[in-house]
Formats: sequence, structure tokens, C-alpha cells
Amino acid sequence: MSVAVAIVGSGPAGFYAADALLGKLPGCRIDILDRLPTPFGLVRAGVAPDHLSTKNVIRLYEKILDKDGVRLLGNVGLGRDVSYDELKRLYDVVVLAFGAEEPRRLCVPGEDRAGVVNVTDFVGWYNAVPGARDCAPDLAGVRGAVVIGNGNVALDVARLLAKTAEELARGDIAPPAAAAITAAPITDIWVIGRRGPVQSSFSFPVLSEFSGLVEAMALVDPGQLPADASAAEEAERRKKEKNLQVLKILAANSADDKPVRIHFAFCAAPVAVLGEARMTGLELMRNRLEGNRAVATGETFRIDAQLMVPTIGYRVSPIAGLPFDSERGIVANRDGRVEPGVYVVGWAKRGPTGVVGTNRVDSRTVVELIAADGPKAGKPGGGGLDELLRARGVRVIGTADWRIIDAAERARGRDARPREKLATIEAMLAVLDSEAAA
Ligand code: NAP
Repeated sequence: MSVAVAIVGSGPAGFYAADALLGKLPGCRIDILDRLPTPFGLVRAGVAPDHLSTKNVIRLYEKILDKDGVRLLGNVGLGRDVSYDELKRLYDVVVLAFGAEEPRRLCVPGEDRAGVVNVTDFVGWYNAVPGARDCAPDLAGVRGAVVIGNGNVALDVARLLAKTAEELARGDIAPPAAAAITAAPITDIWVIGRRGPVQSSFSFPVLSEFSGLVEAMALVDPGQLPADASAAEEAERRKKEKNLQVLKILAANSADDKPVRIHFAFCAAPVAVLGEARMTGLELMRNRLEGNRAVATGETFRIDAQLMVPTIGYRVSPIAGLPFDSERGIVANRDGRVEPGVYVVGWAKRGPTGVVGTNRVDSRTVVELIAADGPKAGKPGGGGLDELLRARGVRVIGTADWRIIDAAERARGRDARPREKLATIEAMLAVLDSEAAA
């Protein structure tokens, strides 16, 4: 008998865990579950549609799917189609790799006004994640857009809002999102950080893209830039210095050169969303830095904006029975161990940090612990889950089904667009039904 493993979540953390488990527990059988019919987690649903090269890592995950003993069970949601307790009863080892997708809230008055769109919905909308279409933002009257936060997701959102139809067509953005963005009368986009440029968590390559936008000019007030990055921790200093150089170059830009302006504004935090039913502006508090800490100055200012996307991080959505660390918004764990036989990897373990490759190291480290714990075979495994899902009428999407969906999406691609994603589960199932009928 072989050890039966369930990995919940088919993003990078899940695939790297699967790969490492195949090496550490020879002969184990691995079921990779995903609530969506499509695999690859944030590489498909989170990575920006114009960052196609980042998505090449999918080729590696496809190879893992083809390995002996590995199955994809798409369209199977933990807490929806199978409970946490049932999974524990069915599998010798459960690895939770479902990420963190609940957006953190700003907690300012007016946050629920129309025009304020949470990051999960906004990113899901441009990445054609099933369900996100229902949350499509109304950009028709948007002249000013504010993105709160100084991480790479903020840069993704601001950059995509600033791109032209031709620029957007060179990626796999959902066509309705591209159409809405390019039809919107946006002239000003603000990227707001509550601390300074040195404290921002931008990555140099992502920040550098703001130099080359066709119709948008990035602007920085030179007065907000420190002379150097000496405020940064020693280990981070070189990275921060490079970002500072980019910002200094942007600070020499002129506002009149292009029709869209992207304002990088530091040391400011939202205090209220203005307007009645719909957002018309944002009130912000100016901060000053005390060391690396932001301290409110008491001075406020306003900007005109009809759209705001807070990109300030994510939390795990709690699942019945699962130990939860509500303060950190992660699955409660000690170095990846949750409880006997249950482990956690990726964002669900450590919070929303790191790039795709970070998960390789993280998952491998947890798999070392799993192997050290010496799991024994004995539970029903995939056969048991198949029976349960059949009884519940769950339509499971396996690897062969995914490949049919993948081929259909690629066939819908045009010119530089590698694929046009199917944006609803119904559309995906219809493709499978028509293939089966052919
Ligand atoms: P992030 O890098 O943690 O940035 C979150 C930002 O939100 C920080 O600037 C943080 O400021 C700010 N923030 C948090 N709470 C706030 C509040 N209450 N008010 C105002 N600002 C607040 O998170 P992320 O951008 O969501 O990215 C998540 C992970 O994905 C990161 O590791 C990122 O590098 C990665 N990613 C990578 C790429 C890529 O292309 N390489 C693209 C997208 C995402 P403080 O620092 O002051 O807390």
C-alpha cells in the first residue's frame, strides 16, 4: 500500500510540494485538489496578464501533473464539496496549499461605497477568474483612480489601468477588462504608500516598467525621495537603492508629456472615502517617518478619484474545523505542521509574501518535515474521495479535462495574445461536453 496524499490547492506551493513528495515518499499517490476547474493558482489567477514570462513556470507544473501517481481533481472545493475532517479521514497526509485570497480591509469610513473595489475582485476580473466577472468594476466615469499600498500588486493594478489597448493585447487579460480599461476616461492614477520609498516593497523589474508605458507618464515629487537608502536594513539596502534610482529617474518626468499621469505619492494614508452612494474622492493624512515607522502629521489633503483599489495584502478565509491564526490571517502552524498528518505550505502558511520561486524552498522544507514524521499508509485515499464526490454529484475535472480546456483557450487566442481564458465554470464545462459529444 502506498501513502495517500491530498494537496489542497494547485498553485506553486502545491506543485512544489507534490514534486518534493514524489522524491521523499517514493510510490506515494498524490491527489491535487482545486476549487476551480483550472490548475496553477496564482500563476493563472494572480500574476498580471502582461507578465507572460512569469507564467512559463506552468510548463514545469504540467510535467508534474504527468508523473505517475499524481492526479488533478479540479472543481473540488475544501469546505464546499469535501470537509476538512473528511479529508483527514481519507488521506494519510494532507497538505494545505490553498493560498490566502481574502483581501485585507483598510477600515476607513466609506470603504463600502461603489467605486471601491477589493483587490481579489479586481485582479480576478482582469484575470478572468470564474465568479469575478460578477464583480466587474464600473469604470465608465472614472477619471481618477487610486491604488493603496506600495507592493507589487499595487504596481500591477496601476500599470494595467494605464495601458493602451495595444499594450494590453500582448497578454492574456480578460477581453471585457481590457475593453473597460481602455474605454475609461482615466487621466490620473495615484499609487499611495503610507511610508516612504525606501520602505516600499516594490520589486525593481516591476517598478522599472513604469519608464516605458506608451501613453502614461509616471511622476514622483523629488522632495519625497531621500538621498540614499541608508534607512533600509543592511540585507535590503542594495535592492532599495536600485528602486530609489528608478524613482529618481521618474522624478525628472514632466506631467504634460503624455495623456495619463501616474503619481507615486509616499507618506500618505487614506482616512475617508468621499461621496454619497458612489466614491467621488479620497481624503488622506500626511505621514512623516520616524525611523521606518509612519506617524500621522495631522495634515490632510484630498484627491479626486472615482475608483480605489486597496492592495494591502490578503488573509486566509477560515474553513470549518481548520486551526486558524486569526491575528496573522493564516492557518495556525508550527513551521508548516498543523496537526498530526496535516501540513501547510505557501501563503496559507506564512502569509502573502515572496515571489513564485519562494514557494519552492518553502514547500521543500515542509516536505522534509513530512518525511521526518514518517507517514504510514493505511487510509482509503483517492478511491474513497472519488466515491464521496460521486455520491455528492460533484463533477471532477481531471488532467485530461484540463488539457481540453487549455487547448480551447489557446485556440481562442489571437496575434500576440497566447490564450483567451474561459471566464466561467459553465463555459469550461460546455467545452468538455461538446468535446465528449464530438
Ligand atoms: P506587499 O508586498 O506586502 O505590499 C502591501 C503594501 O500594503 C505595503 O506597502 C504595505 O505597507 C501596505 N499596507 C498594508 N496595510 C496597509 C494599510 N492599512 N494602509 C495602507 N497601506 C497598507 O503585498 P502585495 O503587493 O499584495 O504582494 C503580495 C506578494 O506577492 C508580495 O510578496 C509580492 O512581491 C508578490 N507579487 C510579486 C509580483 C511580481 O511581479 N514579482 C507581482 C505581484 C505580487 P507597509 O509596508 O507600511 O506595511
